Amino acid sequence: VTNHKSTNTIKFKELQKILLESPDPAKAEEWSKYYTSGPHLAGKNLSQAEWTRDKWLEFGVDSAEVVAYDIYINYPVDHRLALLEPVRDESTKGRDRQYKLKHEFNLEEDVLEEDPTTALDDRIPTFHGYSANGNVTAQYVYVNFGTYEDYEDLIKANISLEGKIAVAKYGHIFRGLKVKRAQELGMIGAVLYDDPQEDGEITEENGYKPYPNGPARNPSAIQRGSVQFLSILPGDPTTPGYPSLPGAPRGDPHNSIPSIPSLPISYSDAIILLKGLNGYGPKASDINKYWQGGKLGSKGVEYNIGPSPPELVLNLVNEVEYVTTPLWNTIGVINGTIKDEVIVMGNHRDAWIAGGAGDPNSGSSAINEVIRSFGIALKAGWKPLRTIVFASWDGEEYGLIGSTEWVEQYVPWLKDTAVAYINCDVATQGNELKVAASPILNQAFTIITSLVASPNQSTTGQTVHDLWNGKISNMGSGSDFTAFQDFAGIPSIDISFGRTKNAAVYHYHSNYDSFYWMSHYGDVGFKYHITTAKLLSLLAAQFIETPILPYNTTDYAEHLLDYLAAAKKHSQSSTISIDTSSHLLLDLEKSIQSLLQVTLAFEEKAAMTAREIEESTASSQKSWALGLWDKARLFRLARRINRKYRLFEQRFLYDGGLDGRSWFKHVVFAPGKWTGYSGATFPGLIEALDEGDREALERWVGIIQERVNSASGLLSGLGK
Ligand code: GLU
Ligand code: CA
Ligand code: ZN
Ligand code: ZN
Repeated sequence: VTNHKSTNTIKFKELQKILLESPDPAKAEEWSKYYTSGPHLAGKNLSQAEWTRDKWLEFGVDSAEVVAYDIYINYPVDHRLALLEPVRDESTKGRDRQYKLKHEFNLEEDVLEEDPTTALDDRIPTFHGYSANGNVTAQYVYVNFGTYEDYEDLIKANISLEGKIAVAKYGHIFRGLKVKRAQELGMIGAVLYDDPQEDGEITEENGYKPYPNGPARNPSAIQRGSVQFLSILPGDPTTPGYPSLPGAPRGDPHNSIPSIPSLPISYSDAIILLKGLNGYGPKASDINKYWQGGKLGSKGVEYNIGPSPPELVLNLVNEVEYVTTPLWNTIGVINGTIKDEVIVMGNHRDAWIAGGAGDPNSGSSAINEVIRSFGIALKAGWKPLRTIVFASWDGEEYGLIGSTEWVEQYVPWLKDTAVAYINCDVATQGNELKVAASPILNQAFTIITSLVASPNQSTTGQTVHDLWNGKISNMGSGSDFTAFQDFAGIPSIDISFGRTKNAAVYHYHSNYDSFYWMSHYGDVGFKYHITTAKLLSLLAAQFIETPILPYNTTDYAEHLLDYLAAAKKHSQSSTISIDTSSHLLLDLEKSIQSLLQVTLAFEEKAAMTAREIEESTASSQKSWALGLWDKARLFRLARRINRKYRLFEQRFLYDGGLDGRSWFKHVVFAPGKWTGYSGATFPGLIEALDEGDREALERWVGIIQERVNSASGLLSGLGK
C-alpha cells in the first residue's frame, strides 16, 4: 500500500486529453484491413485471436490470453434451392425424373472486380448458423416479415401454412424467430431475403446504382446469420447456464435451435421466387393495412401470398455439419489499484464473411484504439484506480457464444466485482449515434458525449452530443451485452453509429460488408471508427477513475415508472379485468415510488461524498484514491457507496428466471419473446397480461415488487 504514495500519476483531465488525442484514423484503418483480410468464422480464427492478444500486449495491457470453450456449432457443407415442376408420369422414378427443373438458384454473391474480398477462394458459403439439416420439396408461401403477427394475419386469412415453405423478408425481428414460428405452425422450411424495402431512400428504383458503382444494395447480396432462438437461450445451446468447458455435460439443444431447414437468398433470387406467386392467393395488400408487400414491384413482383400452385414447388436442401469445436476469446487486463471493482469492455471478432468491416471489425478496430490509447496513458505514468478487462469474443454471430460462456463461467466473480459492461459490436455502418443501456448508466454516457468532437460538423466545435437525438433505448439482445445484463445483472451499454435512410446501404452479413465498402462508402477516412474509440474510452475512464462511481439510480427508478405506465397500457387490451390488473399494478407502483424516494436520498449522499472527496484531494497532485489513502473515513464511505451502487442492478435478478426461458434472470429487461433484438420491459408481467393469465400476473407482480423492495433495502440504511 505505501509504495503507491510515492508513485507518480497523472490527473483525470490529462488522462482524458490522452484518450481524446491518441486514436488515429490511419491505425483504425490498419486494424480494419487486418481483420477483414480473410475468413474469421467462429472457431476458425485462432490466428486472429492470437494476433489480438499480441497487439494488446504490445499496447501495454498487464496481461492478455486466449481462452477456449468447446462449442456445439454447425458449418456449411452443401445447399440447393430450386423451383421444380412435378411430372405426373407414373412410370418415372427418382427425384430428377419426378420433377422438371424450372429454375436453379445460384445462392452465391457476385464477385466484384473492385472489391478483392468478394473474390477470395475460401469465402464462406451462404447458410444459416444453427440451421437444421434437411431436404424438403413443397409449395411455398410469402409470409411478409415472418413476425408473430404476420403469421397470425395469414392464419386469419385462411392461408394454408402446414407442409409449406415460408418465404420471408428479413427485418423487424430476429431471423431465428421467423423460423421458430414457421416451424410451430407446421411449415417445413424457410427462405429469407433482404427486400430493398428496408433500404430507405437508397434504392435502384430511386436512381441509385448498386454497389460497387453506387450506394444502393447489390442485388446479389445475401444476409447470412444465425437462426437460433435468441429470446429463449443465448450461448451454446447444449450448456444452458453453465460454461462449455471440456468435458461439460451436454443437453438436447432442440428447444433453442430450429428443426426445419432454412436458407438465405439474395433479392435478385427472391424476384424469381416471388414472381412464381403472381396471381396465386391474395395480394399482400389485401391481408390488412400493414402489409404492403415489398419493393420489388418494378421488377415484376406482385407480392401475392400464395401458396404457389401445385405445379410449382420449391426444393430446399440444407446440408450442415454439427461439431463440438473450440472457440477462442481473447481477454486482456489492465490492473487497477482497487482490484475488486472491474470494468469490462468487449467486442466480437468472428464474422460470417471474410470481410466484416462493419460487423464486427469496425468495433474491433475501435477497441484496439481504446487499448492503444490507454497504453499511451500508462506509459505517461497513469495508475488506473480500477481494473479494466478487455474482451475480443468469438462466436457472437452464432448466438453470443463467447461472451455468454465467459459470463456463465465467471458469474460469481462478476457479481462480486463488475461495475459495468461496455459493448461495441458494429462501431459504424453510418453516422447516427445509437445507444442502448441500463438506465443507471444513462447519465455517465450522456456527459461524455459533450467531450468528443463530432465527425459530422456543420459548424466547427460541434460535439457528438450536439448531433445526437439523446435517445437511449432499453437493452434487448442481439449482441454480447446480453449475458452481462440479463443473466448476471451487470449494468451494460451498447454503442454504435447506425445508418440513416439516406446513407449508403450497409450489406449486413454479406460479402459486401468489406474493407472496400467501408473505405469507399461506410466510413471514408475512418472518422467514425476513432470517434467510437473516444466515446468508449472516455466512458470507461469515467468508471475507472471517478471516486464515486458515476451511476444514477434515480434515473433507473424513473424509468421503472415509465415501464409501469407501459404495462398499464397493455392491461387495457388484456383479457384480465382492469379491476384486477389495476389493483395489482397500483401495489407495484407504490413500491417503485418508494424506491424513487430512496434513490433520491442515496444520490444526495453520494454527491455530497463526491464533493468532499474532491475538496480534500483538490490540492494534491495525486489521483483521488492515492491522495485519499490516509483519509480512511472518506475512503471507507466511498467504498460502501460504490458497493451498494454496484449491487443495485443485481437486485433485479430473479433466480427462477422468466417463464419458459429460465436462463433470463432479469425481471426488468429481456429480449422480446417474439422480437429478439428489441427489448421488453417487465417481461414476465407483460407476457402474463398478453396471455390473459391472471395467476401469472399476480405471481409476476409479486416477484417484481419483491425485487424492487430489495433494491430499496440495499440503498437505504447507509447511515451517517
Ligand atoms: N448479432 C447476431 C445477429 O443478429 C447475433 C446472433 C444471435 O444472437 O443469435 O445475427
Ligand atoms: Ca453455456
Ligand atoms: Zn456483430
Ligand atoms: Zn452480425
